Amino acid sequence: MNEDIQALLDAMAEALKQRLSAQGTPDPVMVGIHTGGVWVAEALHRRLALRQPLGMLDISFYRDDFSRIGMHPQVKPSNLPFSVDDRHIILVDDVLFTGRTIRAALNEIFDFGRPASVTLAVLVERGGRELPIEAQVVGKHLSLRPDQQVKLRGPDPLRLEIVSIGGD
Ligand code: 5GP
Ligand code: MG
Repeated sequence: MNEDIQALLDAMAEALKQRLSAQGTPDPVMVGIHTGGVWVAEALHRRLALRQPLGMLDISFYRDDFSRIGMHPQVKPSNLPFSVDDRHIILVDDVLFTGRTIRAALNEIFDFGRPASVTLAVLVERGGRELPIEAQVVGKHLSLRPDQQVKLRGPDPLRLEIVSIGGD
């Protein structure tokens, strides 16, 4: 797939800027979801030049289905270097699929405190939602079958590739 990831990130940053200024949101903070969401968050954090350092969440403990999908999570500590109370949070992940990761991330955020708002930004939205969760800012909409995955290849050039799991 011939996607210019840097251009997708630029467009996402622009959409976030417009949203934030339309809302008059003071001093937003950004949180990336470990692992894939962190580099996307770093890229957006740089582009938005946010004042607060980037936060990170590891939601492995909070997933309701990691036995079902056969993950053996290695849990890293989450690191939110700011209070979330009354904060406007931009939550960032690489891919939005069923919505379970975001559900888990929201649970964890609310264990830290009560934010004023949470905006979700994802590089790829691939369909297949199992929960009523949507992203407000999306780099690329894809319609993937359950046996397909989108992979990030790179670094030069950084690009998206659709692969079949266990196939060809
Ligand atoms: P969900 O919890 O919404 O089902 O899945 C989203 C999470 O699973 C993301 O944090 C992402 O890391 C991973 N994920 C789901 N589908 C894909 C995919 O097609 N490609 C990649 N790279 N990650 C995916
Ligand atoms: Mg992930």
